[in-house]
Amino acid sequence: MKQHDVIIVGARVAGSSLAILLAKQGKSVLLVDKASFPSDTLSTHHMSHTEYLKELGVLEEVEKTGLRKIERMRTYIGSAFVEGPRASYTIIPRRDHLDYVLLKKAESFTDVEVMERTTVTNLVWEGEQVRGIEVVDQAGRTEQIEATWVVGADGKHSQVARFVEAAEYETHEPLRPVLYGYFKGIEPLSKPTTEIFLQEGRIGFLFPMEEGRDCLGIEIHPDEFKDMMKQSKESFEAMYREHYDMDRRMEGAELEGKIIGTKGMPNHFRQAYGKGWALIGDAGHSKDPSTGLGINDAFMQSFLLAEALNSEDEETALQAYQQKRDEQLMPGFQLTIDYIKSLRKWTTNEVALFQSMAANPMVWNKIVPRLADHLKAETGDMPLLHGSVLMEAQSFGYE
Ligand SMILES: Cc1cc2nc3c(=O)[nH]c(=O)nc-3n(C[C@H](O)[C@H](O)[C@H](O)COP(=O)(O)OP(=O)(O)OC[C@H]3O[C@@H](n4cnc5c(N)ncnc54)[C@H](O)[C@@H]3O)c2cc1C
Repeated sequence: MKQHDVIIVGARVAGSSLAILLAKQGKSVLLVDKASFPSDTLSTHHMSHTEYLKELGVLEEVEKTGLRKIERMRTYIGSAFVEGPRASYTIIPRRDHLDYVLLKKAESFTDVEVMERTTVTNLVWEGEQVRGIEVVDQAGRTEQIEATWVVGADGKHSQVARFVEAAEYETHEPLRPVLYGYFKGIEPLSKPTTEIFLQEGRIGFLFPMEEGRDCLGIEIHPDEFKDMMKQSKESFEAMYREHYDMDRRMEGAELEGKIIGTKGMPNHFRQAYGKGWALIGDAGHSKDPSTGLGINDAFMQSFLLAEALNSEDEETALQAYQQKRDEQLMPGFQLTIDYIKSLRKWTTNEVALFQSMAANPMVWNKIVPRLADHLKAETGDMPLLHGSVLMEAQSFGYE
């Protein structure tokens, strides 16, 4: 049997970034994925924390495809909007490109071996200790491979988590379906700007990618999903055109490929480690994508786990890994859940209030201190501006 320091199951943002960090520590790493690369995965790709890519040594390569640097954000309610600069710039790299750049970087280290088109079918155990993995390749050949650590970076439906029976906590059912697609030829704003449309209790988002190409998405109500997927292109475009000025801006637009849809993402944390194993990325923590944090969160977990695996006292370090992970992820998780649960069709009064605030920012000074109480009394629900305030808050990180 072969022996590695660390086997990582899953070679996308979580797995490849961890492989890079471990290789820099001089560890031997095996990255295994059932997919082949470059390949796409179910995900839009709003990335506001580019410093992770810089630290991993791949930012320049990722940006080479001509990605626009987005320095502004605009949030619409009806036909009014608020807009402002972001603390740092955002990029929207397609996942087939981003994941491939990370994988190639990992593979450039002599001590990193990559096995594509290889599925992990089980773990190798010695008593309660995980000692390795069992794999099957495309030709049906099976093999056992040993390592000191096995890390599950195998996504939200993690098999590694299932094999080790990792406990799940803070669980919420998938909240909202998401549909998205790539469009050419949408009339741009004068400066690249992330646009968020909070309308009819849905969230529309427009992410400018390269010049002339945008990623458009909508989080819809659960009961809309089935019908929308029947004629996804037509339904998506019709719904998107209802957003402020989008009917006009989509005049010459053309969908590239298909509209992609999912019923929703699981929301939970999983136990982060055990004897000989650990979880990172969506395998350890998954949530609704409305706040666009999953990729950044995957990187953050890779950095934390790499630090823990480099410690003399691994047990204490892994305990600290889980604690730090939860401390750093919990605020964003709770904000995401609250954000989605607070979404609903605005009342006429709420829209009027927002419009007057957006039209005359001086009104904010008078209203904001009393806004929460006022709206709670009026609607018995979350304040109107909760969503847009949240979206801005995330740009400042979790602290
Ligand atoms: C619709 C949607 C939109 C999103 N939009 C955003 C966004 O705008 N910004 C953002 O930051 N995040 C977004 N996310 C979240 C983001 O996609 C995830 O957080 C991120 O992909 C997690 O990366 P990962 O490496 O942990 O897992 P994944 O990207 O899921 O990779 C897991 C890998 O494991 C492999 N694998 C699985 N099982 C096995 C096995 N048994 N053997 C071998 N290999 C295996 C798979 O082939 C896959 O390549 C979105 C998610 C969805 C669903």
